[in-house]
Amino acid sequence: MRVVLLGPPGAGKGTQAQIVAGRLGVPAISTGDIFRANVSGQTDLGKQAKEYMDAGDLVPDEITVAMVRDRLDEPDAKAGFLLDGFPRTIAQAEMLRDSLAEQQLRLDRVLELVVDEEELVRRLSGRRMLVDGKSVQRDDDKPETVRHRLEVHREQTAPLSGWYEQQGLLSRIDAIGAIEEVTERLLAALGR
Ligand code: ADP
Repeated sequence: MRVVLLGPPGAGKGTQAQIVAGRLGVPAISTGDIFRANVSGQTDLGKQAKEYMDAGDLVPDEITVAMVRDRLDEPDAKAGFLLDGFPRTIAQAEMLRDSLAEQQLRLDRVLELVVDEEELVRRLSGRRMLVDGKSVQRDDDKPETVRHRLEVHREQTAPLSGWYEQQGLLSRIDAIGAIEEVTERLLAALGR
């Protein structure tokens, strides 16, 4: 199965991507996680991406698209994948469609996690992650950056749901509720 998970920052994409991908037996591929791993590893890619990420902006499409293409060429992605955080622009979505089409493949479904903005701000400002056993706030979860990320999402990423809807690929999923409830809604939309 080839699935894309859409939704604003704070909608729970990362959490649901891990669980749903596990249930489907495909890798969960998160562009945010790949970028963060490159930033901590201080790779060239990480150095290029860091300033954009810290500002809450999107990393330019050329950089992101090349990275995703390499990741999808890995053997574990051949039987399917669940993408989390990609595509985030129409240009990225077109690249994904074209590179799948070159292999006579297409997406099976696009799942959009729907959460209202008030709840998102609340979730993101309280969010913590573990680094070396310590609970820290992600650099881009600071309140000013959160607001900017939501704005970037509204302008550049939200149009993707209409784009996928026109292609008959979109399922909108209410992402408020217990984690397991949301997982069940996602799996139901995939016919599982
Ligand atoms: P969230 O969904 O919580 O905003 P992510 O972990 O998906 O966070 O992404 C964090 C940051 O990584 C983004 O704000 C952006 O700078 C960068 N990023 C992730 N995915 C993409 C993408 N597909 N295109 C451009 N930038 C991206």
